[in-house]
Amino acid sequence: MNRLPDIKSMDEIELIDFISSIGEKKFRAEQIYGWLHNKLVNSFEEMKNLSNTLKEKLRENAYIPNIEILDIKKSNDGTEKYLFELEDGQAIETVLMTYKHGNSVCISSQAGCRMGCKFCASGINGLVRNLTPAEMLEQIYAVERASELPVSNIVVMGTGEPFDNYENLIKFIRIINSKNGKNIGQRNITVSTCGIVPKIYDFADLHLGVNLAISLHAPNDEIRQSLMPIVNKYTYEELMGACDYYIKKTNRRITFEYSLIKGVNDSKDDAYILAGKLKGMLCHVNLIPMNKVDEKPYEKSEDKSIKLFKDVLDSKKITTTIRRSLGDDVDAACGQLRKTYSSRKS
Ligand code: SF4
Repeated sequence: MNRLPDIKSMDEIELIDFISSIGEKKFRAEQIYGWLHNKLVNSFEEMKNLSNTLKEKLRENAYIPNIEILDIKKSNDGTEKYLFELEDGQAIETVLMTYKHGNSVCISSQAGCRMGCKFCASGINGLVRNLTPAEMLEQIYAVERASELPVSNIVVMGTGEPFDNYENLIKFIRIINSKNGKNIGQRNITVSTCGIVPKIYDFADLHLGVNLAISLHAPNDEIRQSLMPIVNKYTYEELMGACDYYIKKTNRRITFEYSLIKGVNDSKDDAYILAGKLKGMLCHVNLIPMNKVDEKPYEKSEDKSIKLFKDVLDSKKITTTIRRSLGDDVDAACGQLRKTYSSRKS
């Protein structure tokens, strides 16, 4: 990887500092920031209002990281799955979903993941490394360039645990939300965590308007432990305490993601226990009919179990939706494309 400073990962203040450090005026930083994050150019050469001398100076002192599209799989339902290669050869996945209300991109925050959730393809080979802010941004920029569709919503729910890459995540949010960049509203950004409790408190204290989703997937510690090793660090009670704090601090609703797995977490009793845990909380439950991962023993719940589970939550006045399954025909589960690519390479 290039050892010069990565100019695309710099927020506006860092870019001004950097530009001053090479003897240039502040307005140049604003111009360069606009080229990178609004016009989405990928080289100094394309920055038309900069002199050749300045372009040369920039090339000597900084670089613009790029990612390459290896593959795009288009689903019959309009979903597009992108497989990207990073500059060090790592592969990551990004998904474009088109809805009536706009176009949403689900990005990865890490190459691999060390959280080891038992139902997930992304964590099978552990964590390789964190993604830089530029690598998170470029997933969105590259999708916009390739699809020619404007992106209005972002979910940080692909490969990786975003709160395990916290500093880069926050910088990514600030850049993608900035008025001189893509200016994507904080309310149109959702970050999903498997429950890194201290970071939920930190995130609440930042007072961002970003949506928080928690991958819950179980009604209690016992079942959660069989699926998600994070429980060995933070109990259900600690997680709920952090969620309460987040809601009080931000006055924002939390979404609980719950993948329904046949015979594991999808019984009527499980639904009643979950309803008891979430009673009175400003929250929403998103039930996810699980996508099958070849190496994993888990299976999708039957339709009647999914309906029954929802009925119980509804009867307890817990707002619940069933997520529409997208991209089923193109390696739907998160991490599948990347895994297929890595095994082809090795
Ligand atoms: S579900 Fe998310 S946190 Fe868990 S292993 Fe997969 S990518 Fe990591």
